Amino acid sequence: MIDAFAKPELRDLVRKFTRNEIVPHLDAWERAGEVPRDLHRKAAELGLLGIAFPAEVGGEGGDLLDSIVVTEEIIQSGGSSGLIAALFTHGIALPHIVASGDADLIDRYVRPTLRGERIGCLAITEPDGGSDVAGIRTTAKADGDSYTVNGTKLFITSGARADFATTAVRTEDGVRLVVAEGFTVTRRLEKMGWHCSDTAELSFVDVRVPRSHDVGGIQTLLAHFAAERLSLAVQCYATAQRCLDLTLAWVRDRHTFGRPLAGRQLVRHRLAEMARQVDVARTYVRHTALRVASGDQLVTEVAMAKNTAVAACDHVVDQAVQLHGGLGYLRDAEVERHYRDARIMGIGGGTTEIMNEIIAKQLGV
Ligand SMILES: Cc1cc2nc3c(=O)[nH]c(=O)nc-3n(C[C@H](O)[C@H](O)[C@H](O)COP(=O)(O)OP(=O)(O)OC[C@H]3O[C@@H](n4cnc5c(N)ncnc54)[C@H](O)[C@@H]3O)c2cc1C
Repeated sequence: MIDAFAKPELRDLVRKFTRNEIVPHLDAWERAGEVPRDLHRKAAELGLLGIAFPAEVGGEGGDLLDSIVVTEEIIQSGGSSGLIAALFTHGIALPHIVASGDADLIDRYVRPTLRGERIGCLAITEPDGGSDVAGIRTTAKADGDSYTVNGTKLFITSGARADFATTAVRTEDGVRLVVAEGFTVTRRLEKMGWHCSDTAELSFVDVRVPRSHDVGGIQTLLAHFAAERLSLAVQCYATAQRCLDLTLAWVRDRHTFGRPLAGRQLVRHRLAEMARQVDVARTYVRHTALRVASGDQLVTEVAMAKNTAVAACDHVVDQAVQLHGGLGYLRDAEVERHYRDARIMGIGGGTTEIMNEIIAKQLGV
């Protein structure tokens, strides 16, 4: 059977990039609370930022499967989901602009972002709630050729560094997405994990946005959730695979009561269960991604994929820390970072409960 996810050359490129440009600096970026802009330029030079974006908008071509391979390989080579969130925020900020087909917006926002020169973010969530996307309160009042935008956005990934925000606003015509500049970063938010990924509160006070920056309504917004949720699902099983690999190495080395940990049946069975959960999650997520890449409009299966991968990741990172003993609780241990980073997975991009609501709706209940 042909493995659509093999892509050895791409994997090799990403592995080298991760080992040379990310791993040596990741601890410092975690402490700094952000990744440097220079990393965006380096990733762009190798063509990594443009993957899954068409050449006509400045991308490198390729599809969802290529971006999955990049995510898998960065995390499994010693990167992290937080790093993915920070470096690939354009994956959620740009698709609506590309889909609008507006040449001016593509020149101004998409091309320079794919060259690593600008940073964009996606601003949907507000202090009053994130799950209820239709209930957003940030207003955009039409005034001639412009909107005047007022409101607050919360928990915005890369918001502290962003040059522009693809922003969900309420207009007379319902919820719309507009590409905005001129907002203020009112807070940098301190988090449990994803420390290298800056997260911000953004304030919009009478921000003027040309009406030509309107890139679509709520259907446009919903249409791009599938790719975001699948990306998070991939981050989950890749994080779990990395933790399994680190734990396998550790249990072979670590001796207690005169024997390696790997010599204990209890430990071996735990590892077997971790491996089973990783493989089931990877197989289902990849299967769903293959269908999405071939044009199927899947919502329920994507929700199932995300929840499956989140559950596997939660289990595996917990077991990895446990099997590392005291070391697993220290900042020195890579599994400690993955354990903290993993907790966002069932919250971001639609919570586990909201995914279950989608699945239940399909069941007719
Ligand atoms: C690190 C981080 C990065 C983020 N990045 C971004 C970003 O870049 N852009 C962006 O727009 N947002 C971002 N978010 C926001 C994220 O998408 C929201 O936190 C998430 O959608 C949940 O919204 P909420 O926090 O308002 O929780 P709420 O919607 O208030 O939900 C609270 C709890 O109630 C549950 N709940 C809600 N409704 C129901 C229901 N009908 N039935 C049962 N249970 C329910 C939820 O599952 C959750 O457990 C980020 C969040 C974090 C923490």
